[in-house]
Amino acid sequence: MTFETDNGKNENNGGAGGGKLFPERIILCRIGEIALKGLNRSTFEKNLYRNMRDRLKTCGDPDIHWAQSRFYVVPKSADFDYGKAVKAVSGIFGIVSSSVALRSVSEFDAFAEIAKKAVREKLEALGKKGAPGSVKFKVETRRGVKTFPMNSLEISCELGALLLDEFPELVVNVNEPDFILYCEVREESYVYTDIVKAQGGMPIGSNGKACLLLSGGIDSPVAGYMVSKRGVKICAVHFFSYPYTSERAKEKVLELAKIMSAYCGEIKVMIVPYTEVQLEIHAKCRDELGTVIMRRSMMRIAEELARRNGCAALVTGESLGQVASQTMQAMYCTDAAAGMPVFRPLIAMDKVDVIAVAREIGTFETSILPYEDCCTVFTPRHPKTRPSLEEVLEEEKRYDYATLEKAAVEGVEVVTVG
Ligand code: ATP
Ligand code: MG
Repeated sequence: MTFETDNGKNENNGGAGGGKLFPERIILCRIGEIALKGLNRSTFEKNLYRNMRDRLKTCGDPDIHWAQSRFYVVPKSADFDYGKAVKAVSGIFGIVSSSVALRSVSEFDAFAEIAKKAVREKLEALGKKGAPGSVKFKVETRRGVKTFPMNSLEISCELGALLLDEFPELVVNVNEPDFILYCEVREESYVYTDIVKAQGGMPIGSNGKACLLLSGGIDSPVAGYMVSKRGVKICAVHFFSYPYTSERAKEKVLELAKIMSAYCGEIKVMIVPYTEVQLEIHAKCRDELGTVIMRRSMMRIAEELARRNGCAALVTGESLGQVASQTMQAMYCTDAAAGMPVFRPLIAMDKVDVIAVAREIGTFETSILPYEDCCTVFTPRHPKTRPSLEEVLEEEKRYDYATLEKAAVEGVEVVTVG
């Protein structure tokens, strides 16, 4: 069979004798939006290939090939852990779903054999082997090579009849089957009974790099995950106000980044010493504008670090109207300090929906640990919800932010997790 590999070469994995291919069991991965790409599609595919290769290294370092909207994970050794590999594949952005499939050469007798094997395994898994007519099933066939002498319907019918003969417990039910036997006839043939949903999205690295403002809260890890899902490589900035926020709060942020890295890959976390800036804003600026002024300083520092790390955008976990600094007027004032786009993927999401995602990706339990964040320590009692940019700019002149921010940037501590 002709496959594409990372170096663009074609490899011949042609069939062994007797219709069997080794290894017989592989993982078939379906790609989503990448399949719709035009000329630059191969860039996305190569990106995905690299991400899969990195993520599957700990699963026995299998061969990975791609052809016609499918990626194939082909184990090299007998002790390959399929369960672990499917789990790993399910977390890789760009893959929509996967199936552990049996494969053979594309001859009817050969794939009929693996179809029987797949059904035998499925019946065992269902625990329903035995009682005649107790298991409803159907066969769904896709024929990817038009040169094959039977069409999809003929293959499904013939395969179905053969399986009914072999397994008395089976009965055909196309509307409400207990399981579907999927059969794909391409240059090789594949059969499988289960489809495991994966993340979708785009391969990391295919859409540039951005810098996430990562607090210890619920929102920012979700924002980072969502942007990353669109193919963006992220690094993170955390503003740390020791001793107003404790070492444990920093550990919490690093733990959140660690959990995120299961999806986003390795994350470089930059811990910014922020105490001096906050104390100065607190001492010199009007309390009601303190938060907006602080957020503007965060943007300037994050932007400088973003540029140094090759990022083209900032990402925050803000959501419209959630707190005083997240009104339209406040965000206008904040954005005016940033010289690059600020992405806010949660802008129109309700908190309950953000929490649902946080639970799904596994950050929620860590996010709700009760360590204080540097924002909450200096939160004004009555923050202005509709600040004007003019008054903010005027107020900001009261402290020497440039010097303080420069020192903060130079004092960054870097921890890479994942
Ligand atoms: P989260 O749940 O993510 O903490 P939040 O609802 O508490 O968000 P804010 O505290 O106003 O909201 O923060 C809004 C956004 O600003 C956060 O989502 C995050 O992107 C950024 N942010 C806030 N505090 C910090 C911090 N200490 N370090 C880095 N980024 C921060
Ligand atoms: Mg917060």
